[in-house]
Amino acid sequence: MQFVPRAQWGARPSRYSLTYISGTRGVKIHYEGTAVPASLARPENHGSCAGRVRAIQTNHLANREEDYSDIAYNAMVCPHGYVYEGRGAHKKTGANGNQPLNIAHYAVCAMVGSSGLTQPTDAQLNGLRDAIEWLRASGGAGSEIRGHRDGYATDCPGPALYAWVQRGAPRPGGSGTPSPSYEPFPGAGFFQRSPRSPIITAMGKRLVSEGCSAYAEGPGPQWSDADRASYAKWQRKLGYTGADADGWPGRPSWDALKVPKV
Ligand SMILES: [Zn+2]
Ligand SMILES: [Zn+2]
Repeated sequence: MQFVPRAQWGARPSRYSLTYISGTRGVKIHYEGTAVPASLARPENHGSCAGRVRAIQTNHLANREEDYSDIAYNAMVCPHGYVYEGRGAHKKTGANGNQPLNIAHYAVCAMVGSSGLTQPTDAQLNGLRDAIEWLRASGGAGSEIRGHRDGYATDCPGPALYAWVQRGAPRPGGSGTPSPSYEPFPGAGFFQRSPRSPIITAMGKRLVSEGCSAYAEGPGPQWSDADRASYAKWQRKLGYTGADADGWPGRPSWDALKVPKV
């Protein structure tokens, strides 16, 4: 991922401290929706992308009606595929339309317009996918990928991006790139919230087949002490000891487990 942290694009400080959230059900995709010049997508124009993020932040900070604390998005993605840190991971967005929607999903905005640059570039789709995977790995985002218009009356994220979202937000390229067949790491916070999810059942089945069962019954969808004890066995099987084998899933051990997509 070509990640541009706040300091690197010259973010101004937040007006108010941002609201911490442990995780979300997933990520919503947005677009700028205004006119974005088609020329922005040219390779030589990447130099203006950081300025564009600064301008959007300035715009949001000046919006007295919304009274934004900061740029509304958790991340922005330019046509060259760079991911700009907005509010960042574990921060409630201001972009989804209302408080319940802002708590339910992170918001990632593509530099795509309603005129000019209306089609995302392949690099941009890869960047959006990078942003989604980053928020899953580092922000406790769940598996949902939606558009701003899902649950809120808006055209956002425009027809091209919305069609991509409905296809499951695949990385471009190749003939029918298969979606990854393993469940991506849902984030440490996901497990701390004692989730009830088919992901937990799929994880448990994998642990059993690896000979790491501490289940008296199950495995089932509700995260339990038996899941944690079984996962600790898996961590020890991988060679982890001490606090690294405490039964709370981390990304390396999760990736090694290869939990099939649910
Ligand atoms: Zn939007
Ligand atoms: Zn760029």
